[in-house]
Amino acid sequence: MIDIATLQQELTARVAASQMPAEVLKAPEFRQLYAEIPKLAPEERGAFGQQVNQLKQAVEAAVEARKAELERVELPPIDVTAPFDVNTAKPGMLPSEKGSVHPLTREMEVISDIFNRMGFVTEESREIDDQYHMFETLNFPKGHPARDDYDTFMTVETDTDGDPLIAPAHTSTMQNRTLVKYRDNLAKGEAIAAIVPDRVFRNEDLDARHEHTFYQVEGIYVAKGVHAGMLVATLQKFLEEYYGRQLEVRVNPYYFPFTEPSFEFALSCPFCDKKGCSVCSHAGWIELLGCGMIHPNVLKAADIDPTEYTGFAFGCGIDRLVMMKHNIEDVRHFESGKLDFLRQF
Ligand SMILES: [Zn+2]
Repeated sequence: MIDIATLQQELTARVAASQMPAEVLKAPEFRQLYAEIPKLAPEERGAFGQQVNQLKQAVEAAVEARKAELERVELPPIDVTAPFDVNTAKPGMLPSEKGSVHPLTREMEVISDIFNRMGFVTEESREIDDQYHMFETLNFPKGHPARDDYDTFMTVETDTDGDPLIAPAHTSTMQNRTLVKYRDNLAKGEAIAAIVPDRVFRNEDLDARHEHTFYQVEGIYVAKGVHAGMLVATLQKFLEEYYGRQLEVRVNPYYFPFTEPSFEFALSCPFCDKKGCSVCSHAGWIELLGCGMIHPNVLKAADIDPTEYTGFAFGCGIDRLVMMKHNIEDVRHFESGKLDFLRQF
């Protein structure tokens, strides 16, 4: 007959010394104990079974405690400001050179800061998403021809409809989630005001102006009585703050499934005052971003009544903003990892 108290001491000691504590739960002793039960007198079986269960629970608790202990193992802290390894340094590099924040990361912080001061919260996007958020919630039903404009990368994993999960081709994938997350603001008489600056992907032929991986900032604003004038004023204020000067803006009609009406938004060239320069291809104006009033179907998809609330949305390429600000001639520099480019920031 196995002594359960002694066995418990033995097993918990084994757990405490193990790197894979869950393995102890498979110990043959448990099987032996269960095999004992039918051999006992019927009136003893209940009490014995209970003892075995208590033993199992005690060992399970010890396993959880040991797992937590193993996860707590302390790693030496990483000093991110330390000089890089002298042994891997190339000729011309100083061992004391430090890394720096990537120019896109830094500019995204600047952009966030401007919008945060205007009352917008910053949300994060995802790098793999489903087609429901990429298209359906944005008024692109299945088979909509405008889906073809957003050719991106697919994974082998599928969503609940059996469609492939994708690398999002725009930050608008977060519109529905953001509207739902902040929907309660509306009942309190407050606006939904959020931006999503993050990474997006397209299946592009690469050249100086096109990358397969780039950054967008999405903006949405929903409340009672929101109109297109507020959209134009918000974007104009943002761009003036970003480029540090007064600008003229103009909007032209455009088409997007998720806004109605939709606009293409242009600003007077911040570098030549409409006289014409290389940045604006001598046009004096720069077509910068797409925007519009949020389509009623997009609000409905988030359970917001479009007869009561209206809103605007915009999506702006961050790489383009930063290229213009710093006179960068080729978008491919950003993802290149070239140190001679990155050291300039
Ligand atoms: Zn110009």
